Amino acid sequence: MTKVSLVKCQTYDYNKVKAAVNKSITLAGSLKKTIKKSDTVLLKVNLLKAAKPEQAITTHPAIVKAVCEQILDLGATPIVGDTQNIQMDKGQSSLKLSGIKAVCDELKVKAIDFKDNGFTKVKVPKPVQMKEIWLAKDILDADIIISLPKMKTHILTSYTGAVKNFFGCIPFGERMKAHVLGKDEMFAEVLSDIYSVIKPQFSIMDGIQGMEGDGPTHGPKRNYNLIGASPDCVSLDAVCSNLLGFSSINTVIAAEKRGLGTADLNKIQILGDKIPPFTIQMPNQNIRKSQSLASYIPKPIKDYLVKNLLKFEPRVDESKCKKCAICEKACPVNAITMDPYPVFDRDKCIKCFCCHELCPEGAIYTHKSWLAKHWR
Ligand code: SF4
Ligand code: SF4
Repeated sequence: MTKVSLVKCQTYDYNKVKAAVNKSITLAGSLKKTIKKSDTVLLKVNLLKAAKPEQAITTHPAIVKAVCEQILDLGATPIVGDTQNIQMDKGQSSLKLSGIKAVCDELKVKAIDFKDNGFTKVKVPKPVQMKEIWLAKDILDADIIISLPKMKTHILTSYTGAVKNFFGCIPFGERMKAHVLGKDEMFAEVLSDIYSVIKPQFSIMDGIQGMEGDGPTHGPKRNYNLIGASPDCVSLDAVCSNLLGFSSINTVIAAEKRGLGTADLNKIQILGDKIPPFTIQMPNQNIRKSQSLASYIPKPIKDYLVKNLLKFEPRVDESKCKKCAICEKACPVNAITMDPYPVFDRDKCIKCFCCHELCPEGAIYTHKSWLAKHWR
């Protein structure tokens, strides 16, 4: 039986978090069996938005610190990362504002934005929605991958946790295409396509403070007072979403269907503290319905919408550009040519924003169309 542990923790006081994280990992099967001294262990945090820890949007730095310390104790090398959201453009970095960069600096652990190392195209074995995905190179370079999600409701998928956390490993442009598929089920299949390539080895859920209602960013904070852990992200999500009152979650169903994990609660051994189910404020169903309307729109029209109306694209401020061509070299799809300033091939661009991230002059900015500015 797959093991999932749940350990009560009502505070982000570091010593208490460390004790709860260590207990939950030990109960769920211990990292010792999985991690070797020579391993690089990528901790995939949730950096959805540049937000402070108390906003309960991003993985709390205390959890990140406790897991990093466990990995360092095993003699392995932790790296903490995610794709920082491009909407952090007001000069706020989500790694910094979340407090994650500070704990990584304290432990001399690398904190990375996946855009710095870029993305590479990978074939999906037995694909359902995506035959190929552009995946963060840092994920592919790691020996071990651990999901460190935040326990939240989600306006489109109802719940977001350990499996959905990996959506941040693909470029922004690819995420947009997935979001306009229109059906929860299809979106869940995209998530399982991504998950089937990444195959993480463990997950530790930050469920001390999460979110209810219109998560993952706009709902009210909610104290769930727990840390969860499992070697199976699908099982951890099945248990945590069930605690929130969801009888089934498409992401979990899609992953289980492909043999990527166990979602059947009868086949999961839940260890640790007894956590009674929560009564929570549910996501706004009207917004979910308007999303499903997109499923009636034919694919060519959706493609037109994404390409022409829902525009997020890199542009260059020629007054700042020094024509160094770093952006041209960084682009994974060769969508930039220098003439003499960067010129973007809009058909090739996958909107990974690596050019924006790596430009030393801050000369590449994100242009948003009216619809993109108002798109939620
Ligand atoms: S990296 Fe920045 S400064 Fe260099 S060519 Fe590109 S836009 Fe210009
Ligand atoms: S042009 Fe910039 S945003 Fe587009 S694919 Fe290349 S690096 Fe990514």
